[in-house]
Amino acid sequence: MLKHVSLIRILFYLTIIILAVSCSKKFQFKKVQELENYRDVIERITKGKLGLKGTNLYFVDDLKNDNDFETTLATCYSYEVKFIGDNYIEFSKTAWQRLNNIQRLVLMSHELLHCDCNMDHKDDILEDGCPASVMHTFAPRLECIEKHLVRYFDEIKLGCKE
Ligand SMILES: [Zn+2]
Repeated sequence: MLKHVSLIRILFYLTIIILAVSCSKKFQFKKVQELENYRDVIERITKGKLGLKGTNLYFVDDLKNDNDFETTLATCYSYEVKFIGDNYIEFSKTAWQRLNNIQRLVLMSHELLHCDCNMDHKDDILEDGCPASVMHTFAPRLECIEKHLVRYFDEIKLGCKE
């Protein structure tokens, strides 16, 4: 009888382990080459301070509330419990297609700063109305990026350092 109980216990633990392994597999996304190319550029620009490969990048057709363009370009999801899987970023495919290369780099850097560095938003505004930081809640408009390109990339180059 005692032997029987310990066998059931072993089977129970085995089931838990198998479930845990299959659940963590589910969260490993297939790499999207287009997004990986942008991450590689960010990694080069920041000399490896940003662009850790652990954060999964992928496209979704559309993010919710598409009428609110600014808030739905991309989102970083981070897990409280690391065991479940790595962080991941969803990029809206339709929004991505409307952005030029520089806007995409700024957008991805913003999300990587959230996901890789746990960085929060910084909503200070410059005198001309442009965001002072790439970590502003709303992505800077193209005019702002062109005007403050050096400022924004100096910030990105710091990576996780604030
Ligand atoms: Zn953000």
